[in-house]
Amino acid sequence: MRIAMVGTGYVGLVSGACFSEFGTEVVCIDKDADKIARLEKGEIPIFEPGLDVLVANNRKAGRLSFTTELAKAVGEAEAVFIAVGTPTGRTGGEADLSYVYDAVREVAAALKGYTVVVNKSTVPVGTGREVERIIRESNPQADFDVVSNPEFLREGAAINDFMRPDRVIIGAETERAQEVMRELYRVLYLIETPILFTTLETAELTKYAGNAFLATKITFINEIADLCEKVGADVHDVARGIGLDGRIGRKFLHPGPGYGGSCFPKDTLALVHTAQKAGAPVRIVETVADINDKRKKAMASRIVEACDGSVAGKTVAILGVTFKPNTDDMRDAPSLEIVPALIAAGAKVQAFDPEGMEQAKPMLAGVQWCGSAYEAMTGADVVAILTEWNEFRALDMERVKEAMKAPVMVDLRNVYSPADMTAAGFRYSSVGRPLKRPGA
Ligand code: NAD
Repeated sequence: MRIAMVGTGYVGLVSGACFSEFGTEVVCIDKDADKIARLEKGEIPIFEPGLDVLVANNRKAGRLSFTTELAKAVGEAEAVFIAVGTPTGRTGGEADLSYVYDAVREVAAALKGYTVVVNKSTVPVGTGREVERIIRESNPQADFDVVSNPEFLREGAAINDFMRPDRVIIGAETERAQEVMRELYRVLYLIETPILFTTLETAELTKYAGNAFLATKITFINEIADLCEKVGADVHDVARGIGLDGRIGRKFLHPGPGYGGSCFPKDTLALVHTAQKAGAPVRIVETVADINDKRKKAMASRIVEACDGSVAGKTVAILGVTFKPNTDDMRDAPSLEIVPALIAAGAKVQAFDPEGMEQAKPMLAGVQWCGSAYEAMTGADVVAILTEWNEFRALDMERVKEAMKAPVMVDLRNVYSPADMTAAGFRYSSVGRPLKRPGA
């Protein structure tokens, strides 16, 4: 089988590489000529663990190629995946579908023979029907079906998520389209992955409902963490205590500075917009989005408090700027709220991130970028951990103390133990945990 992947970003490149690993012939298309040129030279334009090897192996095997020429690749494909961005639009939180519809118009003109057009981008309910309408209008002769196949991979663990997913959702309404999709995912049938066939609308909504639920879980534990701080409870024990209840589950109960990334912020807003328009508002999700927004903005004040109420003229070391570890993705990262607020309050910011600095530089003006965590902490009055990269989990605290002007740490990811840090001589604050545990 041959497929074309329109959009070679985080999702398109990972999905394309994984489908080729499944044995499918894949052509990844992007309108960004520079990105395609880099891929053709063997460079990987994003940081995603394992992706370089997967791409190299499948290129070598002749199953994976890259192009800017959409028409040829689409004309030869049995399935065409749309994996372009769907960012938040300029007004009201709705998803901007212009990239999807532009891509679909180009695809429509290039279709030859029966083709399944698969929406992998996260798109609001009703988009699949509109895609059908656009294709029919632009190319009345086209023989096609539209399918919704939302993607659930997580950056940083994307390959494993794609190859061993919890489930695959496929909104496909004809037997012919279902057959093509079954064939594409046949490797997952072999490992007994649940594959759910639904209508277009159900598949589209399932993606948003999933992300909104996870965003709600994070926001819930963040608010419980704030309450823990007021009443002297430990949020990690509370999370474990509730998470062991099988109805709740232990994942996504880790408190922090608020969710960011390329999906949760925009997808919660888009769901709120869809629901309001449909006359069935999702008030929980409205509140979650609002709380999370305010939380990210409020995080800078924790660092200011740790500096006795003012960072003016002080040096703040920032460890980690990406929205989570193992990615270079900066989209909606909490650092984008925290760092500018510190600079506006008069701080000098020295920052280090293992993979995200190239992406971050144009987004965070006025930061002094450093070559290592220790360099960032040199001469600092306070250090704040914003992203829990592994290399920040085992810092040599004696070396940290020597490097810093004062041993003050704000750990927004709860990487360290309050007791250990206090014993090591730090003024330490984290999220939702008392400094002392019972009996300590
Ligand atoms: P991205 O911005 O990394 O990549 C999109 C790519 O599409 C870009 O390289 C862009 O140049 C290209 N593009 C845009 N229009 C094009 C066109 N007409 N022809 C060819 N190429 C075109 O985006 P992403 O993070 O991969 O997200 C893609 C979609 O997948 C979004 O809807 C997103 O919500 C969804 N999604 C993302 C993730 C994630 O973790 N990033 C996870 C699940 C779902």
